[in-house]
Amino acid sequence: MGYTTQMNAARQKIVTKEMQAVAAWEGIGMDRLLKLVANGQAVIPANKNHKCLKPFGIGSALKTKINVNLGTSRDCMNMDVELEKVMNAVNMGAEAIMDLSSFGDTRVFRRKLTAECPAILGTVPIYDAIVYYNKPLKDITSREWIDVFKMHAEDGVDFMTIHCGLNRSTAARFKQSKRLLNLVSRGGSLIFSWMELTGNENPFFEFYDDILEICRQYDVTLSLGDACRPGCIADAGDVSQIEELVVLGELTARAWEKDVQVMVEGPGHMALNQIQANMEIQQTLCKGAPFYVLGPLVTDIAPGYDHITAAIGGAIAATYGASFLCYVTPAEHLRLPTVEDVKEGIIASKIAAHAADVAKGLPGAADWDYRMGQARRTLDWERQFELAIDPEKARRYRAQSQPEHSDTCTMCGKMCSVRNMNKILNGENVDIME
Ligand code: SF4
Repeated sequence: MGYTTQMNAARQKIVTKEMQAVAAWEGIGMDRLLKLVANGQAVIPANKNHKCLKPFGIGSALKTKINVNLGTSRDCMNMDVELEKVMNAVNMGAEAIMDLSSFGDTRVFRRKLTAECPAILGTVPIYDAIVYYNKPLKDITSREWIDVFKMHAEDGVDFMTIHCGLNRSTAARFKQSKRLLNLVSRGGSLIFSWMELTGNENPFFEFYDDILEICRQYDVTLSLGDACRPGCIADAGDVSQIEELVVLGELTARAWEKDVQVMVEGPGHMALNQIQANMEIQQTLCKGAPFYVLGPLVTDIAPGYDHITAAIGGAIAATYGASFLCYVTPAEHLRLPTVEDVKEGIIASKIAAHAADVAKGLPGAADWDYRMGQARRTLDWERQFELAIDPEKARRYRAQSQPEHSDTCTMCGKMCSVRNMNKILNGENVDIME
C-alpha cells in the first residue's frame, strides 16, 4: 500500500479510498483534506481489519460527527437487543458506535460488529480487560492491559479510548485537589484504582510507545481519554482536568511523530459560560487535534433530561472547536438506555451537531434549514416530514391533532400567520371569523 496510517498516507500525499469517500461526503477538496489529516487536525478512523467500514472524517473543519455508546452490562446482557440498538443508531445517522460491553463474551459481539457494522467502531479496552481476565483488578499485569489493546486492534476496532493522561503525577495532583465528585470516568476510575492497588505507573502511559506501534500496524486512531473529566459543574476547569489535558497534549505530539491519528476527549459537566474557553485551551494544548466531548452537560440537576443538558453544551462546544459529540440519553446517570432512550439521545445529539455546523458556516449546512423554511412557507406538510430530523415523530404529532382546515395546524387554526400572509400577499381576503 505504501503507507501505514491515513496520517502517514496524507503526509506522503497518497490519496486513499477512505480519503476519497470523506472528501466527497464533506464536499471539500482533496488538497485541503490531505493537509488536515497530515497535520492531525482531522482523523479518518479506519482499522485495516474493519472491512465493511463506511469512513468518516472527524475534525473541526469538517461536519460535526456523533458517537453512540452501546454494549452489554452485567445487568443487561442481551446481545440481540444491543445489536438492534446499533443498527437503529446507524440508520439514524450515527457516524460512530462505541462498544462499551462489560459483561459476557465481549469478543463475539465485537467481532460481529466489525464484520457487519459500517459505522466507525470504538472501544475502551480497560473495561474489556476486566471481563477478559476475570480476576481481581490488582492481579492484572501491566502487559495484560496492553495485550487487550492489541486484541481489539486485531479485531478491527477503529478507535480506542485509553486513559493515559492519568499518570502518577496527575494522580498525585488529583488526590491533593479534593474534588467534589472525584473521578467519574469509568475507565479512569478503574486505572486509578489499579495504580493505587499496585503502586505501578499507568501502563497506557508507561508503555505508550508500544501502543503507538500497535496503532501504526492496524491504523487504530487513539482517543486520549479524560480520566479527570469533571463529573459536576463544581469540578469543571479545575487543576486535575487541566493538568491531564497538558499531558494529553504531550502524548498527542508523540503519536503524531509516529504518524498515529489522535483525538482528545473532553468534559464532562461544565457550565455554559466556561465551554468556549475550554475548547480554546484544548485547541492550544493539543495543537488542533480533534476534540471529542462527552456532553458537556451544562447543569447537574436534570436526570431524565440529560440528552437536553448535553445537547446545549454540545452545540456550544462544537461551535467553538469540538468536532465529535458523544451522545447522551435521557437515561444518563440512571440506567442502561432502552431502544427509545437511544433514539432520543441520537436525535438530541444530531440537532446539536447540525446547529453547530450552521453556526460555523460550514458550506451547505444551512441549506437543510432553508429547505425547511420553504416547506413551512408553502405549508407543505409532506415536505416538512421528509426534511424533519425525526420524520416519524413529526408525522405522528400532526396526525394526532388534525386541524379544521388542512392549510393550518391546531396551534393557531385560522389565525395561522403563514397561511394569512400567503393570502394577503397574494391579494386574497383574510377573514378569521368566516
Ligand atoms: S397554525 Fe400557527 S403553528 Fe401552525 S403552521 Fe400556522 S403559524 Fe405555524
